Amino acid sequence: MIYYKTAEEIELIRQSSQLVGKTLGVVASMLKPGITGEEIDKVAEEFIRDNGGIPGFKGLYDFPSTLCISKNSCVVHGIPEKKEFADGDIVSVDCGVFMNGFYGDCAYTFPIGDVSEDVMNLLRITEDSLYLGIEQARVGKRLGDISSAIQTYAEKQNKYGIVRKLVGHGVGRELHEDPEVPNFGKRGRGVKLKEGLVIAIEPMVNMGTKDVKQSQDGWGILTADGKASAHYEHTVAVGKGQADILSTHEYVVEAIKNNVNIKEVSSKYQIFANQI
Ligand code: MG
Ligand code: MG
Repeated sequence: MIYYKTAEEIELIRQSSQLVGKTLGVVASMLKPGITGEEIDKVAEEFIRDNGGIPGFKGLYDFPSTLCISKNSCVVHGIPEKKEFADGDIVSVDCGVFMNGFYGDCAYTFPIGDVSEDVMNLLRITEDSLYLGIEQARVGKRLGDISSAIQTYAEKQNKYGIVRKLVGHGVGRELHEDPEVPNFGKRGRGVKLKEGLVIAIEPMVNMGTKDVKQSQDGWGILTADGKASAHYEHTVAVGKGQADILSTHEYVVEAIKNNVNIKEVSSKYQIFANQI
């Protein structure tokens, strides 16, 4: 069942989502070769709690940490590790916050140090596909319009693999609400988009095969072929005429400018997204 939100509830989801964005900004300022996922997770948890939020993932389904940190061939749901990040790694950081009764959910994939141009292209195309999906999150469109925009760009035009087993979702009093928001599908199909619908749009795009497997720790989802995977996510309210992006990557972009260890990803649709 889909819970449509009031304007007041959407503002609360925006506050939670903005705190996620700020937390990702803190993460972006810390990332470098030699730092560990565990160290970053600890700082992220403190930052969220200091700002009046509760880590949204920790304890949910028994997940052990504040952040999902998914490196290289790990698509999503990686547990922060003691192992140090190395030059050339790509690191997806997914974060949730629960505050004032509502969740926010947002993710960004960071290239650490000298990442190959092939992999940088995967990051750019995945981020682009997120904004192309968001552009469809308008009253009168259907869910399949979002799914199709992402799939067409990432898979049909750029020949990457779109993960099928994991999808975006409604966001509200629960982190994962109806409807499911697949990153593949047909235009003009699915639920009609109405005001009050709040969804997390989160393309997961693989360099090679779309197929995934479970890691041995029971949490991480890995690409079946061991090739790289990228993941970008925003929490978005369906709007009249235009989508309303409730979360933000602006703190990430600012932090990256001041962090010599992280390259800018620079989606070509980012400018357009800021105008949404
Ligand atoms: Mg997320
Ligand atoms: Mg999500």
